[in-house]
Amino acid sequence: MSALDGAWARRWIEAVAERVAARKAELTALDRAIGDADHGENLDRGFQAVLGRLDGLDADATPGAVLKLVATTLISTVGGAAGPLYGTAFLKAAMASGDRAELDAPALVEVLTAARDGIVARGKAELRDKTMVDAWSPAVDAAATAGDDVRAVLEAAAAAAAEGAVATEPLVAHKGRASYLGERAIGHRDPGAESTSLILRAAAETA
Ligand code: ADP
Ligand code: MG
Ligand code: MG
Repeated sequence: MSALDGAWARRWIEAVAERVAARKAELTALDRAIGDADHGENLDRGFQAVLGRLDGLDADATPGAVLKLVATTLISTVGGAAGPLYGTAFLKAAMASGDRAELDAPALVEVLTAARDGIVARGKAELRDKTMVDAWSPAVDAAATAGDDVRAVLEAAAAAAAEGAVATEPLVAHKGRASYLGERAIGHRDPGAESTSLILRAAAETA
């Protein structure tokens, strides 16, 4: 397939809301091990609020309008570390998407890159700091070399994010709450990297 429209963006975000709700306890359990046991609740609160507001959006809203609504809603409802980080990611993604009615493969790569760059600019995490960047960065790299089919781009991103999330397990954390634990963080998957994998998997499966 060569391009994705606003209806896809809406399907994607609805799927994220559904999957976050279904996996809320699992995401919170990851955060219980190396954080403060609220990551699933934080994201569920945010994406349920997004669902409520999506109804108010025009039926023919652009992908950028959907992404912007996600950004503003997450920023105002989630809090903690993940709220501003995901909020910034979706805001930068919305800006990269602009007023395009459809996103082709190069545009999708721009959008994913902008999201990742926004998280890095905001949180200052580097690769292997055991954060969501460890899922986003390989996802962007894989997307950039996946070719011209939007489904292939998103599938590559989702697969790389899943691997990136698993690869956080042996790491010591250098950012966020898990960084207070030193070596005790070893053996646990980063919750934000796992939720990033969920978000990108939903993008691929709704395309
Ligand atoms: P909080 O830690 O405030 O309770 P959450 O539990 O919702 O917030 O989110 C925690 C996740 O946020 C971590 O698993 C990690 O992926 C991500 N995170 C924390 N700090 C940073 C940072 N500086 N840069 C990137 N991601 C970060
Ligand atoms: Mg937390
Ligand atoms: Mg918290």
